[in-house]
Amino acid sequence: MSVDQHEQVSFVYDPDTGYRGIIAIHSTILGPALGGTRFWNYASEDEALTDVLRLSRGMTYKAAIAGLDLGGGKSVIVGDNKTMDRERILRAHGRHVEAMGGRYITAEDVGTSMSDMEFVRQETDHVVGLKGRSGDPSPVTAFGVYRGMKACAQFRYGDDSLVGKIVAVQGVGHVGYCLCKLLHEEGATLVVADIDHEKVDRVVKEFGAKAIRDDEIYGVAADIFAPCALGAVINDDSLKVLKVDIVAGGANNQLAEDRHGDALDARGVIYAPDYVNNGGGLINVNAELAGWTLEQAHQKTSEIYGTVLGVLEIARDEGIPSYRAARRLARRRLEDVKQKAGTPRKSRKLVKSGRGV
Ligand code: NAD
Repeated sequence: MSVDQHEQVSFVYDPDTGYRGIIAIHSTILGPALGGTRFWNYASEDEALTDVLRLSRGMTYKAAIAGLDLGGGKSVIVGDNKTMDRERILRAHGRHVEAMGGRYITAEDVGTSMSDMEFVRQETDHVVGLKGRSGDPSPVTAFGVYRGMKACAQFRYGDDSLVGKIVAVQGVGHVGYCLCKLLHEEGATLVVADIDHEKVDRVVKEFGAKAIRDDEIYGVAADIFAPCALGAVINDDSLKVLKVDIVAGGANNQLAEDRHGDALDARGVIYAPDYVNNGGGLINVNAELAGWTLEQAHQKTSEIYGTVLGVLEIARDEGIPSYRAARRLARRRLEDVKQKAGTPRKSRKLVKSGRGV
């Protein structure tokens, strides 16, 4: 925990349901920690712990960069999300979230959906991204990714048009599908891969995408690579074959290690740091807490264009990789708030209507 200065990590095993969950709170400097619940069949609890620690740290930076009064946290449920009894598992998770006393607020993530959050809500009020409120954050996340991708194009080509650009999208689930829609509407050419072939068929049919095998996506001839599946996809193996000008996607923790961000930079590949580019979902769920309209959330998400461009300009001017420039900006806000704001609000009491108070 001390390596990245996590504040709290909670493990719960519930023998009645088979629930195994970890909640990691990285920081509550800016406010209560918010981050989704990932339900994934991890090979081991060590792997799950590594994931939740990395993801929760990313949430701290994501909120800091987006200017939100939220801290960083995340949770993982270990198990097969296709075979386990969802209601019992997610209600056990809801009790775990409730036990954090408002220091952690959850939402959907990979392997969980809006309807799963209704199960969580039966046990706790500390859940957002609900039906009839801010809803599924994925379309807004995708819109932010699209805006960030355009900022990268502006920086790289001097023109932010994506017409005719070949974009390789890895993962066409919630975010990837919505991103493909926006790119298709603008006139980009899509090359897609997903381990779920039904999802691939849908974007082929609806947006004329070209489908390739999931192991071919890194080496495909494209202008832009958009990782929208899982993390650590910019790694020693993918770097051997990657040929694109820009990496800009929605997945969290795209760099396996910092040195892979250095390698992208050394090759002149423009990289939109993941937590800057994919902040739209967090902005959208924050609307539920801050009382924003969905239009306000959309407008704020649109600003990701300027934030990504700003990060790329700082990186260029200071001769550092973009991931370092983004981290510096995020840490600066955390330090400023720590020094100026006095005692931060560590938890947020939610009333039954779901509005933040
Ligand atoms: P999702 O589960 O709906 O979609 C992920 C897709 O990736 C699935 O279709 C899955 O089959 C596919 N996939 C998994 N491994 C793959 C592989 N090796 N190759 C190709 N495809 C593979 O999840 P999502 O909500 O779309 O999220 C995607 C990514 O974006 C995740 O990293 C998530 O943490 C991040 N993210 C999502 C949001 C959001 O609002 N949903 C917000 C911020 C960040």
